[in-house]
Amino acid sequence: MASNYLTPEQDQRLRHWETWNRNYFIFAFFALTAVLIFSSQLGLSSEDSWGPLGLIIAALIAPIIFLQSVLSCPACGRRMGWRAKLMAPDQCRYCGVVMRSKNKQNT
Ligand SMILES: [Zn+2]
Repeated sequence: MASNYLTPEQDQRLRHWETWNRNYFIFAFFALTAVLIFSSQLGLSSEDSWGPLGLIIAALIAPIIFLQSVLSCPACGRRMGWRAKLMAPDQCRYCGVVMRSKNKQNT
């Protein structure tokens, strides 16, 4: 069965998203770790108040959710949602398009 592939432009857009998604995820991971490690020194958390720390964690995590939610299939435009994780899926589950352009090898 012949599968559909993305055009080079669509593929480029997808790679662009992946780069942003991955870079931000790494940034957020280290930022969260740093915040958690230094939270007591910075006075962000105490036994009775997790407010400021919770806000910072939410602010770091929100863009991850946003990046995940904006990824849509370049071919049919349907949202990939959380299935995407760090990388775009190999194939769209709705229209079956292969998530790369035909002439490019993902090695
Ligand atoms: Zn699709």
